[in-house]
Amino acid sequence: MPTETTYLELSDGKSHKFYEVTINDVEVTVRYGRIGDVGKTTVTSYDNAQKAHAEVTKLVNSKLKKGYERAQKGDRTKQPISRSDRRLARLNHLRRTGWKPLIKATLDAPFASKYLGKPWLSPGKTHPHCSGCGGALNFHFQLNLQELPESLQGKLGTGLFQMFTCFTCYLHFPEAVALPEAAKSTPPEPEISAEDAANLSKWAPSVIRDGFDEFHGRYMLQIVGWQPFDDYPFFEEAQETYGTEYSEYEEMLIFHVDENDCEFYDEDDPDRPTPIDIQLAWNRTADKLSGWGYWGQQVEHQYCRICNQPMQLFYQLGHGIEYEGSTGLDYDVDNLLLILQCAEHKDEFSCYDSAF
Ligand SMILES: [Zn+2]
Ligand SMILES: [Zn+2]
Repeated sequence: MPTETTYLELSDGKSHKFYEVTINDVEVTVRYGRIGDVGKTTVTSYDNAQKAHAEVTKLVNSKLKKGYERAQKGDRTKQPISRSDRRLARLNHLRRTGWKPLIKATLDAPFASKYLGKPWLSPGKTHPHCSGCGGALNFHFQLNLQELPESLQGKLGTGLFQMFTCFTCYLHFPEAVALPEAAKSTPPEPEISAEDAANLSKWAPSVIRDGFDEFHGRYMLQIVGWQPFDDYPFFEEAQETYGTEYSEYEEMLIFHVDENDCEFYDEDDPDRPTPIDIQLAWNRTADKLSGWGYWGQQVEHQYCRICNQPMQLFYQLGHGIEYEGSTGLDYDVDNLLLILQCAEHKDEFSCYDSAF
């Protein structure tokens, strides 16, 4: 009887593993493990070929029931195990979901969630001025609270959140305004003239690099979606909330791992940061919706002026955003701005500048 091999894989975001059964007369060899690894092998001999065959059918069917599929060996490649997966298992109770904005450069639209462009102003309202110096405020960011990830719908209030700043007085003016009933949703694919398309291709990379908007609000960096990621608190907040202390090593892993750290590890060192670790570390200190705020030097809770409860992270204007492989659009170089909100009084916002 010829040797016959059945090769199965299960790869679904949680698992990335294979299961292989080979029958050779009365001998059944099972090999299993993570895709790309050699795995473990067990060999069992049966009284006769028929019994061996029946056993193989049973094994294969039970795996298929569990979601394994017949696959071609080598089609899927080995996936790195994130250091985060292993090291941070211990910090699981601290994990929150943060949401990274997904960006598209396009023509400005009034009710969009966006960076830059023009703020929507209710009829009759003029561009706001600073209560300190009277100068026109700088507009940076607007969030349509009807367009949040589903699990956050209704939790962060309603209407349009807008962020204005006076960089002379260093005052921030976060505010949620009601949307008019006639507010239209933003068209997913607006018509763009050849001239605008040409401008946009230059505008987007330059505005991300140096933040200067030479078209004065004609274009926006629209937030077209949100990508969830695992977020962890600043160590002092972890300690105060849950009594969990981070090691210096975990602190680095969570917030400060970058490509340069790879140099210090051999290729096969299990502690070598993986691309996933590096991406997650960036996400945590970059701009994000919800999750944990990066406090920088120390935790300084802001309290709601109505109920006196500590406010929660609403949005972090951090190290900027990612767009087509570039990162930038820092709100304020060397600082992160935490926009905090009262969980109960959703019109109450406060800002905290954390030095990086
Ligand atoms: Zn001012
Ligand atoms: Zn409150």
